[in-house]
Amino acid sequence: MAQQGINPKQIKSYNDTALLYLLSSEGTLSRKAISAKLGLTAAAVSKITKRLIDCEKIEELGVSAEDSERVGRKEVLLSLKSADKFCLGITAELDTVTYALCDVSGKLIKSISYDFFDDTDLIVEKTKEFLHSCGELQGQLIGIGLCVVGSVKKDVFGVWDNEALCTALERELQLPVAIQNNVKAYALAELIFGDVSDVSSVLFFKWGNGIGSAVAVGGKLLLGTDYSLTEVGHYIVDPAGKRCRCGRFGCLETVASSNVISAETGLSLDDVVESEDERIIHILEQKIDTVALALTNTATILNANKIVLFGKMFENSQIVEKLARQCARYNNNFKNNKIMRGDLSAKSAYIGAAAVCAQQFFFTENE
Ligand SMILES: [Zn+2]
Repeated sequence: MAQQGINPKQIKSYNDTALLYLLSSEGTLSRKAISAKLGLTAAAVSKITKRLIDCEKIEELGVSAEDSERVGRKEVLLSLKSADKFCLGITAELDTVTYALCDVSGKLIKSISYDFFDDTDLIVEKTKEFLHSCGELQGQLIGIGLCVVGSVKKDVFGVWDNEALCTALERELQLPVAIQNNVKAYALAELIFGDVSDVSSVLFFKWGNGIGSAVAVGGKLLLGTDYSLTEVGHYIVDPAGKRCRCGRFGCLETVASSNVISAETGLSLDDVVESEDERIIHILEQKIDTVALALTNTATILNANKIVLFGKMFENSQIVEKLARQCARYNNNFKNNKIMRGDLSAKSAYIGAAAVCAQQFFFTENE
């Protein structure tokens, strides 16, 4: 693919990152396989791998079992050198704050969750406490990934003072900080650690206490000019409805969030799904229909050929199926498994923060 307007330094960095992402999703590969998959010459791959081995981002694992028995040239396998580099993730949801330590391949080492709090000093203090509990691994941290509610700009639907927090964390912990919206961070995790990077257009949709979305085109996350692109949770679906945290009235989130459903039915989510009471069944169907309509319209605008679901509501597979069915009723294109729960959805409390940190300080920052 011809890259126009990109200088040699950018191409070098682009190729390094592409190779790291490839190894992240495939695990181990020989130089020959990397060359075929990235469409680069053997000489180019040899140069890139040498550079990445020198800066300790990848390592040689010896020859494959199959190859070692063959006569002739052996194919040495390469993999990410991920076991000695760690990310500290801090993830805010509307009702929880989660601290997690992961390696750069997204493997969880330890985590702790608290009920939501928003005091900057307390967030920093809890970060220090968590780090202290990580013992000697503290010395192998590459940075902090911060996942926030709303835009990274506090004045766009946000709940934390993001700028003050980033500054305080960098100063107090002496670690670089990368920040992203929690839904976009999850999407990034699916792109880096999951299996959707080769899908041309993916819409990620989160349905929990908060409702949000993100979109990736050609394996890249779209961010918009102020990082708040595709805020489906703030579609106005009932202009006469309740005031939303964004200041408008009747946003999708105020009508269909998991907390609203529990409040309107007086039941836990599991009980709502299992209920045979006609009133409860009707409420759930209405919420699913409202969400399906917003989701179908968004997917149509984005020409998404896959929709990846995550969040508390989708922990129940019946809701996944009902929503997928309703979307397919609105648009035939969404039949045949185009709507599915994300592979990493069970890890959504921390995986996005790991991805944000790993992307910024491991996958893209190559010396
Ligand atoms: Zn809103």
